[in-house]
Amino acid sequence: MVSLRGVDKHFGDLHVLRGIDLDVAAKEVVVVVGPSGSGKSTLCRTINRLETIDSGEIRVDGTPLPTEGPALAQLRADVGMVFQSFNLFAHRTILDNITLAPIQVRRAKRAVAEAEAMALLERVGIADKAGHHPAQLSGGQQQRAAMARALAMHPKVMLFDEPTSALDPEMVNEVLDVMVGLARDGMTMIVVTHEMGFARRAADRVVFMDQGRIVEQDTPAGFFDSPRTERARSFLASVL
Ligand code: ATP
Ligand code: MG
Repeated sequence: MVSLRGVDKHFGDLHVLRGIDLDVAAKEVVVVVGPSGSGKSTLCRTINRLETIDSGEIRVDGTPLPTEGPALAQLRADVGMVFQSFNLFAHRTILDNITLAPIQVRRAKRAVAEAEAMALLERVGIADKAGHHPAQLSGGQQQRAAMARALAMHPKVMLFDEPTSALDPEMVNEVLDVMVGLARDGMTMIVVTHEMGFARRAADRVVFMDQGRIVEQDTPAGFFDSPRTERARSFLASVL
């Protein structure tokens, strides 16, 4: 579903992604972990072309990433992204936040988009908040609304970049539970997170990055119980 070959990315003199090869199969859940600055967010952002790459190739569903125009808008719909900060439109209701792009980009009829948005809000457990504005929701509820918004575009793959790290601890699980549900329903997912419990529960594979490289990848049990490199061992010692 997603494939990266020899992907390199610099920010000025900084070599942030160094020859990344990664394949994510349909319905696979890949959790990406690694120290701060190792390139996890940049990796995610290259996959929906929020960042360009210097060399290598990225394909989503077999197609090389488009660079502009309607094809780029379609890519952004196909590759849903949920960030640490929820990025909801503050002056719109939750329902409007979710229906805006389907109506404008997918040309969905309003009634159809609204019915689908309500079903998605039901799925993430906040149907009662449809008419509220983002500021009236807790952080966990806002993040679940952001997830519903991405899902409304019928993405082929969902990227999550530390979706729970801005949340108060008591709200982390309500967001992770929705993500576990998505994973069980067969969504293809790439998840950057420090929530190792989630990785054990939901990941098919854990990818460990350090200094712009994929250093190790394994099943959650393999990675957490018997990491092969010293770098992974010391990373795990610092987060577990
Ligand atoms: P964290 O766990 O702290 O979120 P990360 O693994 O997501 O870290 P990235 O955000 O991908 O790391 O950053 C990788 C490197 O690239 C860091 O050294 C960062 O400072 C640098 N970097 C990221 N974005 C930019 C940018 N837009 N311009 C310049 N440097 C950047
Ligand atoms: Mg990051």
